[in-house]
Amino acid sequence: MATERTFSIIKPDAVEANNVGNILAMIEGAGLKIKAMRMVHLSRPMAEGFYAVHKERPFFGELVDFMTRGPVVVSVLEGENAVVAYRTLMGATNPANADAGTIRKQYAKDIGENAVHGSDSLENAGIEINYFFPGYELG
Ligand code: GDP
Repeated sequence: MATERTFSIIKPDAVEANNVGNILAMIEGAGLKIKAMRMVHLSRPMAEGFYAVHKERPFFGELVDFMTRGPVVVSVLEGENAVVAYRTLMGATNPANADAGTIRKQYAKDIGENAVHGSDSLENAGIEINYFFPGYELG
């Protein structure tokens, strides 16, 4: 098992619903360490850049509207197999398909407003950490 870092966003729906503390408690309860964290209200260019891989998808405009409508909490998480561990804790993109005990099962509304983001690979974790925490030491 390898110690890894991954990138998390607590999305506007979860911040609006006062679920930041509950979600951070689930993250820490799963054994992931919060290594860096801040609250930020994304600009449209920042959100469009972050989700550039989805720019041809029909829901892209809706996704950018959602991600910019209020503040989010961005963080760097560290732990054993952190990328997969956090994706497992998050649950499926659509909360209707998410397993019991996952963040999205508990706090997500639907496939769009789904409470959290987590990197889907170690490579993307590095890119996403650098996007929000430039110069952050990856080790
Ligand atoms: P993730 O890695 O589980 O977050 O899922 P994806 O990479 O497939 O999608 C990125 C984000 O786009 C999701 O977390 C949702 O917020 C949003 N999204 C995905 N599919 C849809 C959709 O069909 N409709 C809308 N409105 N948003 C979506």
